[in-house]
Amino acid sequence: MDPCDTPACQSAREIFHELEEYYDEHNLYFQTIGSVLEAANLLDVPHRLKLILTQPKNEIMVHCPVKMDDGTWQLFKGYRVQHNNVLGPYKGGMRYHGEVKLDEVKTLALLMTMKCALARLPYGGAKGALKIDPRAVSKDELERVTRRLTAALGNNIGPDYDIPAPDMGTNSQIMAWMADTYINFAESSNKVTARGVVTGKPLEFGGSAGREKATGQGLVYVLDAMLPGMKMDLSELSCSLIGYGNVGSWTGRLLQARGTRLKAVMDHTGAIRNAHGIDAEKLALYVAQTGGVKGYTEADAIDEPDFYSTPVDLFIPAALEQMVDLEHAERLQCKVLVEAANAPTTPRAERHLLAKGIEVLPAILCNAGGVTVSYFEWKQNRQSETWDEELVDERLRTVMTRSAQRVLDTAARLNCNMRMASYAAAIEHIDKVYEMRGVFP
Ligand code: GLU
Repeated sequence: MDPCDTPACQSAREIFHELEEYYDEHNLYFQTIGSVLEAANLLDVPHRLKLILTQPKNEIMVHCPVKMDDGTWQLFKGYRVQHNNVLGPYKGGMRYHGEVKLDEVKTLALLMTMKCALARLPYGGAKGALKIDPRAVSKDELERVTRRLTAALGNNIGPDYDIPAPDMGTNSQIMAWMADTYINFAESSNKVTARGVVTGKPLEFGGSAGREKATGQGLVYVLDAMLPGMKMDLSELSCSLIGYGNVGSWTGRLLQARGTRLKAVMDHTGAIRNAHGIDAEKLALYVAQTGGVKGYTEADAIDEPDFYSTPVDLFIPAALEQMVDLEHAERLQCKVLVEAANAPTTPRAERHLLAKGIEVLPAILCNAGGVTVSYFEWKQNRQSETWDEELVDERLRTVMTRSAQRVLDTAARLNCNMRMASYAAAIEHIDKVYEMRGVFP
C-alpha cells in the first residue's frame, strides 16, 4: 500500500506526534480525525481547537458479568466514549455488535460531535457500544445485560449530561430497559425528567412520533435539497442499498414512495438484484421474518462484485464503517454516493470516486435525521409534550434543509468537496462557542 501523504494524513500525523500518541495510518480513527483536521486547516481556527478535537474527553470502559439462561456466566465489555460537550450534553447511540472495538467507538463519537454541530443541535458527541451479538442471545439475556450495562455506566449518563440512543443492534425495547433502569436509580424528585436519559424510546413510553424512520426520512430531505442543483429528481432515479436494517429499509421505503426504483440490496446474508425494481415494502417484511435479504424470490441472487457494479443513480451504504473500499469504488457505476451509514467510504475510495466525477454526500449531513428527531424527543420529554408526526417531519425537514444549504455554501466559500465543507461548517460553529466560553480554567 502507498505511504499516506494526503493532507489528511499529514495533519493527523503532526498532531499525534505532538500528543506523543501512537498511530496507525490504516486505523479508522486516525483517518477520520485526519479528515476533520484537514477541514480545520482550511479555516483560521486556533491550534488548541485541533488538539481538543483530536482526543475524546472521556473513554469509559466497563465489564458486565451476566448470568445466561443456561446458568453459565459471561463477561461483556461495554464502552461509552464522550468526545466533546462544548455545545451541550454528550449525545449518541449505543451499538450492540460482536466485533466492536474502542477505536470504532471513538470514531463514531467524534462523528457525533461533528454531526450535532453541523445541524446546530444543542449537543456534543458521544457513542457507546457493547461487545455482544444481539442475535445470539435470548430476550431475557439481552434485558439483563442491558440493565447491568446501564447500572455500570451509572452517572456517566443522564438527561443533562450524556443521552444514549439506538444504533446498530439496538432498538426502542433496549432504550426502554435503559430508561427504566436509570429511573430506578434516580432521586424521587427527578423521576419524570429521568426518562429523557435516552432517546429512541417506544412511543408509549416517552418516544417521539417519526423517530424510527427519522434517519431515512432525514436522508430523503437532504436529497430534496441537494439533487435539484445536480439536475436530478428522485422520481426518475434508481438506487441500491447496502444494509436493510432500520436505516436501509426506511430509506428504501421512503425513496420508493417518492418514485425512486430500488434495484439492488446487499446485507450480511447476501445480495439481490432486480433491474425492474425490488418492492421495498415487501422486502422489509421479508427481512423482518427471515433476518436478511438472502432467499428473497422476487429478485436474483448476485455476488458482491455484481452488486457493486450494478448501474444506479444513487448508491447508498447503510451498514457498517469502511464498507466501500478502493476495490469496490472502482466497480461503482453511480452518480452520487449517499452515506447513510457512518464512515462507510474509505479515504482512498472517496478520492477515486471524486476523481471519477461521482459526488459523495457525507454521513454527518445525510444521516443526521436520527439524532435530530432524538433532540425533538428529548425536548418533548422536558416539556411534557407530544408532537404529531406531521410536526416532527416538518421540523426535521427544516433542520436537514438548512444543514444541506450550510454545506453547499461552505463548499462554495472554501472551494472544497462536500465532506470537507460539512466538517468545516461544524468546526466553525464549535470554534465560535469555544471563543465565547473560553477553555476552563
Ligand atoms: N445512532 C444514531 C447516529 O449515529 C442516532 C444517535 C442519537 O439519536 O443520539 O446518528
